[in-house]
Amino acid sequence: MEVRKRGLCQKTTFHFDRNTGSIAQEIARKGFIFYVSMFLCGLKFIFMSNATETTYKLLDGKKLADEIKSEIAAEVRQLTAGGRRAPHLAAILVGNDGGSLTYVGHKVKACEQVGFKSTLLHFTDTTITEDFLLAEVKKLNEDKGIDGFIVQLPLPKHIDADKVIMSIDPDKDVDGFHPVNVGKTTLGLSSYISATPLGITMILERYNIETSGKNCVVIGRSNIVGRPISILLSNNAKVGNATVTVCHSKTINLKEITLKADIIIAALGKPEFLTGDMVKEGVVIVDVGTSRVEDSTAKAGWRLKGDVRFDEVSKKASAITPVPGGVGPMTVVSLLLNTLKAYKS
Ligand code: NAP
Repeated sequence: MEVRKRGLCQKTTFHFDRNTGSIAQEIARKGFIFYVSMFLCGLKFIFMSNATETTYKLLDGKKLADEIKSEIAAEVRQLTAGGRRAPHLAAILVGNDGGSLTYVGHKVKACEQVGFKSTLLHFTDTTITEDFLLAEVKKLNEDKGIDGFIVQLPLPKHIDADKVIMSIDPDKDVDGFHPVNVGKTTLGLSSYISATPLGITMILERYNIETSGKNCVVIGRSNIVGRPISILLSNNAKVGNATVTVCHSKTINLKEITLKADIIIAALGKPEFLTGDMVKEGVVIVDVGTSRVEDSTAKAGWRLKGDVRFDEVSKKASAITPVPGGVGPMTVVSLLLNTLKAYKS
């Protein structure tokens, strides 16, 4: 007897052999094979239809930052349980720049969340002198109750920001901007690593992104992001050992370079600069950019945009950070970690 069955993806032939078994046994056996085949075809169907959809992993900096903040809070509770004072971060802010007020506000709030003490020295008068500011930095350097502090940039034009940064005690420089800390980072020695690059390395580490041997392209060479992250990624370290190319405004064949990248760190401050045609399939993207772009539909009248055209690039990426909610929250957490390190030392 021969029965032909045409399923979605299987043609099954039922054959009865009088010498080896009953019709019922043969039908049961063939039926079993048929249903297993149907199940496997179904899996294949689901897999193939997913392959045409977006499959990137979202590198959720906000979620990660919340997890790390909980870890810090637990450690602070333990450290202070015996009567020790809490870690203490101070910040100097000059003027009323909207962006700076927001960033400092985030840092103060984060301190509260993890049980740190925070002090904000806000000088609203933008005409304060450089000498006045240097004297304030000296006071913080000498204050034994303060573990670390930052001077929020930018400063008014008449104040030399480099001179102010150089005046910070490297042991309290939790932003990691002082040349001593930059030098130690470059040599792979223990240091306060600049907050944004440290946050980027933590995203890569916690999301198990392999950097060793990868072709990594950093767009931007600023002292606070591009240059330090390029050094960290090329160092002989757990998150490191990459072959790094640093690009900047004078790079002439940028697209040729980004198309070869396994990992791209975009830190140039040009909204949606990196487009889908500039990256290869499977690339890992870290978008550092945070530009305020006018948008009348937004409550504030502007929206935060990254340096990456997310809708295009995410279609090719294997992993990508969002903006907002990517590198930004991890920068704040890195500052907390540096402050905790200063407190413990
Ligand atoms: P920056 O000091 O202005 O440096 C920008 C860098 O990008 C420069 O090295 C510049 O090259 C390069 N660049 C500009 N146009 C370019 C182009 N067309 N092609 C290639 N390179 C180009 O900026 P930054 O302080 O590093 O900040 C970069 C972005 O990250 C900004 O949007 C900033 O707001 C954001 N940011 C975010 C965080 C955070 O926590 N999420 C922290 C810090 C910064 P040249 O050196 O040749 O001028």
